[in-house]
Amino acid sequence: MLLKGKVAVVTGGTRGIGRAVVEKYLENGAKVVLWGSREETVKKALAELKSKNGDWDVSGMYPDLTNASEVETAIQSVKEQYGKIDILVNNAGISQSTPLYQYTADDFDKIMKLNVSALFYTILPTAKIMKEQGGGVIINTSSMVSISGQPSGVGYPTSKFAVNGMTVSLARELAKDHIRVNAVAPGVTKTDMVAALPEAVVEAISAKIPLGRPGEPEDVANAFVYLASDMASYVTGEILSVDGACRA
Ligand code: NAD
Repeated sequence: MLLKGKVAVVTGGTRGIGRAVVEKYLENGAKVVLWGSREETVKKALAELKSKNGDWDVSGMYPDLTNASEVETAIQSVKEQYGKIDILVNNAGISQSTPLYQYTADDFDKIMKLNVSALFYTILPTAKIMKEQGGGVIINTSSMVSISGQPSGVGYPTSKFAVNGMTVSLARELAKDHIRVNAVAPGVTKTDMVAALPEAVVEAISAKIPLGRPGEPEDVANAFVYLASDMASYVTGEILSVDGACRA
């Protein structure tokens, strides 16, 4: 039980990597508030989790992550309900692989708003709470493309380079407040996001993975458990790759 008694907020917690993080955190004794984009998907995820283990302390919310004041209100309500926030996982994200000449300015703005601005919106009110309570842990979800870039869909790698910049900068700024800030950079991981990519793209990437397989959401979630736990008490400003050594 690496996270016993900790209170965690996980955005994009209804499915994929975020859902695996929610389950691993619950298994390790945390109380989890999972955030999703819609009431139906949040309710469905909560029902599935409760049927797995009725003792798990899990609740759900669905604020609009692209609305700063709605996000701030949601963070405050978590603090009011649980008394603290120990762990914030910024996991919600979207990807797009459109070539540049078909890319629109709206596409670019949409991806930056959710993948970058929304992290700022969750972090600002949460960091204030964490500072006041004496510390906390923030973990952002980056991507292997934040190291290598990718040959189409420029908004997505750009957003993940920005996630890394925010992570290492805030790690340095918030260390004095005992707030650790890290990111996990998954490689190709078997979720809906990858299912949405053309099969040929996934096959081409998978063939280049030295460990010989795409990641499972649980492989990635284990890194989120480690970084949230006291085992990582001296780790901050780290972008932890979980990608089977696939860097291109
Ligand atoms: P997914 O599509 O299965 O899940 C995405 C999550 O984000 C969902 O829970 C969804 O509800 C949430 N979300 C999407 N749009 C939202 C919105 N507008 N408002 C609120 N929530 C929204 O994808 P995933 O693969 O689990 O991705 C999770 C994170 O991992 C993302 O940040 C993604 O960029 C990153 N990532 C994934 C891979 C991969 O191969 N799957 C690789 C690298 C990084």
